[in-house]
Amino acid sequence: MSTSKRSSREISLERAEVLKNRIEPYLEAKEKISTGLSLKEEIKARQNKIKEILGATDDDWNDWHWQIRNRISDSDQLANFLNLNEKQKQDIDNVGKKFRWAISPYYLSLINPEGEHYQDPIYLQSVPTGLELQEGIGSADPMAEEFTNPAQCITRRYPDRLIINITNQCAMYCRHCQRRRNIGETDIPRSKEELLEAINYIKNSPEIRDVLITGGDPFTLSDDLLDWLLGELDKIPHLEYKRLGSRMLVTLPQRVTPEFCEMLKKHHPVYVNTHFNNPLEVTEESKKACEMLANAGVPLGNQAVLLKGINDNIHVMKKLNHEILKIRVRPYYIFHAKGIIGTMHFRTSVDIGIEIMEHLRGYTSGLAIPTFIVNAPEGKGKTPMLPEYLIAQGRGNVTIRTWEGEIIQYPNKDEDIIF
Ligand SMILES: *Cc1c(COP(=O)(O)O)cnc(C)c1O
Repeated sequence: MSTSKRSSREISLERAEVLKNRIEPYLEAKEKISTGLSLKEEIKARQNKIKEILGATDDDWNDWHWQIRNRISDSDQLANFLNLNEKQKQDIDNVGKKFRWAISPYYLSLINPEGEHYQDPIYLQSVPTGLELQEGIGSADPMAEEFTNPAQCITRRYPDRLIINITNQCAMYCRHCQRRRNIGETDIPRSKEELLEAINYIKNSPEIRDVLITGGDPFTLSDDLLDWLLGELDKIPHLEYKRLGSRMLVTLPQRVTPEFCEMLKKHHPVYVNTHFNNPLEVTEESKKACEMLANAGVPLGNQAVLLKGINDNIHVMKKLNHEILKIRVRPYYIFHAKGIIGTMHFRTSVDIGIEIMEHLRGYTSGLAIPTFIVNAPEGKGKTPMLPEYLIAQGRGNVTIRTWEGEIIQYPNKDEDIIF
C-alpha cells in the first residue's frame, strides 16, 4: 500500500515537472515583454514632460475633455514630443492628407520618445507610416456594411442582435481602423432624430434582445446623451441588456469618471467591450478605469485585433490576456485583420492566429482564451477559427486530439446503455 502510494505521488511529481516544462518557453519570454505597469516610472516621466510642453496641470491631464482638446494631429507638434526623422514626418504629412489621425496626450505618453519607433506597438497603432499609402491593395468596405443598414445608424447582420453606430468620433484614430472610410474630416455625432429612428426600429423588432452601441467610440459622447439613449433602450421590453464598445479605456482612460459610472449603473445590465492589443497598454490609468467600471457592476470584455508587429506572437498575446484579466477584463475575441485599404501592412496570415490559439488552450486558463474570429467577407458574419481538435467523426467514435497532441478515440455516444 505504502509503496503504491509513494509511486502515485512520484508519478504526479513527474507529471508536474512535464507540465512546468511545457510553459518554459513562455516563462522565459514573458520576462522580456514590457507592460504599461512595468514601465510605470518611465511613463510618469514622459507624462511630466508632455504636461510641461503643453503647460498642463495635473487636473488638466486628468480631465478627459482636456485630453480630447489637446490631441496631437500635426507632425511638427508631434516632433516636440518624439524623436522623428524627416521621412517619418513626411510620411505623417502625406498620410494626413488622406486619412485622419489624432493621438491623446495620454496615449502619446506610452510611446518611447527615443528610438526608431518602427518596433513600437504604441507608435505603430497611433502614428501614420508610409505603409498606409500602399496602392492597389485592400478595399474600403469589405464588410459591405452599406447593405446591412435597415434603419439610420443601425447595422444588422444577425438574427437577435444589432449595432447602433452612434458617432464617427474616437479619442484616437487607430492606424488599423476597419472603419476608416467613416471617420471623415469632421466629427458627426448622430442627431437625436436619427437615434430615434434606430430606437423605433428596435421597438418594432421584438426578436432583437441585445443592442451593441458603438461607432466610432460612444464614450466620446456626453454622459447626458448616453444616459438618454440607454434610458430609451431600457423602455424596450424585449431588450435584455445593452452593450457598449469603446477603446477609450485604452486610449483615454480619464474618460471613466465616477459620474460616468453612476450613470451606467442606472441602466444595468450593461456590458462594455474594449480593445487592448498589447501589454504596454495596461497602465496605472487603464487599470483604474477598468476597475471603476467593474466596481460599477459592468462586466468587461476585450476585442483584440491580430496585428503584425503589435501582437502577432504567441507569447505577447498570452501575456496580454493575462495582464487584462488582472485588471478584470475578460478576453472575448481576437479578430483577424480585415483587408481594409491603408491597413494591409498590419495583416497577418490566419495561420498565426490559429497558432496563437494552439498555444493558449491547455497551456493557460480557459478564462484567458478568447475566440479567434475571421469576419467572412461581405458581412457574412463572424466565423470562429480553431486548431483541429476533432480529427475524425464516426458514428461509433470521434477521434480527438488533446492540447498536448495526443490522439484519442472517444465514444460518440454510449451505445451500450439501454434505458
Ligand atoms: C460583431 C457584431 C455583433 C456582435 O457580435 P457578438 O458575436 O454577439 O459579440 C452584432 N452585430 C454586428 C453587425 C456585428 O458586427
